[in-house]
Amino acid sequence: MLDKLRDGLQNSIKKFIGNDNIDEESIKEFIKDLQRSLLQSDVNVKLVFELTKKVEERALKEKVPMGIPRRDHIVKILYEELSNMLGSDNKFELKKDKQNIILVLGIQGSGKTTSIGKLGRYMSKKNYSTGVIAADTFRPGALEQIKSLCEPFKIEVYGEENESNAIKIIRNGIDFFKKNTKDVVIIDTTGRHKEEEKLMGEMKQLTKEIKPDNIFLVIDSTIGQQSESQSKAFKEIAPIGGIIITKLDGAAKGGGALIAVANTGASIFFLGTGERIDDLEEFVATRFVGRLIGMGDIQTLLQRVKDMQIENQDVKLQRIMSGKMTITDLYEQLEQMNKMGSIKKIMELIPGASNQLPEKDLDNIEKNMEKWKFIIQSMTNQEKQDPDLINSSRIKRIAKGSGRTEKEIKELLNRYKQSKQMFKASKGRNMRQLMKKLGAN
Ligand code: GDP
Ligand code: MG
Repeated sequence: MLDKLRDGLQNSIKKFIGNDNIDEESIKEFIKDLQRSLLQSDVNVKLVFELTKKVEERALKEKVPMGIPRRDHIVKILYEELSNMLGSDNKFELKKDKQNIILVLGIQGSGKTTSIGKLGRYMSKKNYSTGVIAADTFRPGALEQIKSLCEPFKIEVYGEENESNAIKIIRNGIDFFKKNTKDVVIIDTTGRHKEEEKLMGEMKQLTKEIKPDNIFLVIDSTIGQQSESQSKAFKEIAPIGGIIITKLDGAAKGGGALIAVANTGASIFFLGTGERIDDLEEFVATRFVGRLIGMGDIQTLLQRVKDMQIENQDVKLQRIMSGKMTITDLYEQLEQMNKMGSIKKIMELIPGASNQLPEKDLDNIEKNMEKWKFIIQSMTNQEKQDPDLINSSRIKRIAKGSGRTEKEIKELLNRYKQSKQMFKASKGRNMRQLMKKLGAN
């Protein structure tokens, strides 16, 4: 889905975080790359510039929070601004304790009938029963189409083969499903695009008469940014509650469509991502953008970073950076990392970090950490404070206590020395080097 936009954004990010130095120049370059990717996906020029201006300003001005590399912080800014642009995390919810009537509007071929089948399936997965009223009296074979979509999944369809008055069918259908106690009733409608005015008039009347609990508008994403005017036109005739954007599989202009619709202030509830009945996704802006730019779940990462920040972290870090690291500090880092979950998982949450480290290295660190924990626990407090005290007889004692070999203890002491120097030298700048020194060979 949205392959071109995704690849464009991810390549820009990859290039950006690959820079040795994050400075004004690399940020400006990044902004240009982003603009190119967005414009190529038919995102409206004005919106592209609004977005990238915000990202650029924040990237240049904002103070980077403790413990997060600047490059990650800037990718996070992009993530936040893109999510904002795509709207709130409003999810569709059924009204409680009543039969919900949903009217589905949209022009012909936008994917109404298909989406209704998908919605019925979605509801049944949530244990809601669904009835569908087939009120597209214009398209030949419409009733057959919707029946063949719905009936294999036990979604009941109400239709009248020879009735041409849609409102009549809908009224009868609503009565039918009332007796039938369905949780949800979805109404499929006509969507001729010729005689548009007449159609719009009909829809207006329909909405007034039926008073649905929710009105969904179906928009075909292949029309790109034109979807903005389409959703505005429909909004004028009916109180649209939410939007389903279809055909996002393979639509080159899909990104433009999504952003344009969100820009009208409408809630996007679902995405159609294929022709099959299961190809429907709930739309949640933050989750969607996270996936789009391939950064995993940054919220989770930030929460974890926050959780692990202990008192006086600033002071402690300063001390470590100035070369006064005790083995207790190293031990604490290990413990914190364990608390945060496996390193591999953490690295996946940091944009770009997992690309920097081969799988094998990550496995090595995790194995070593287990070992080192036992070794450090067998040291006295004095030894932990000043590891230089640890001579060969102390090594023998620690080896016995921890059940590890003397060689492993010497290895740890070497790592400790290296990490200490490295922290001092690089001020923690280079993640790759840090992980290497921590034990990835
Ligand atoms: P309606 O006229 O609005 O009821 O549109 P239909 O539901 O009949 O869909 C029109 C065409 O679009 C059909 O061929 C559908 O299979 C196709 N379609 C609908 N939704 C999607 C989607 O999300 N992805 C793809 N690839 N095709 C879709
Ligand atoms: Mg149809």
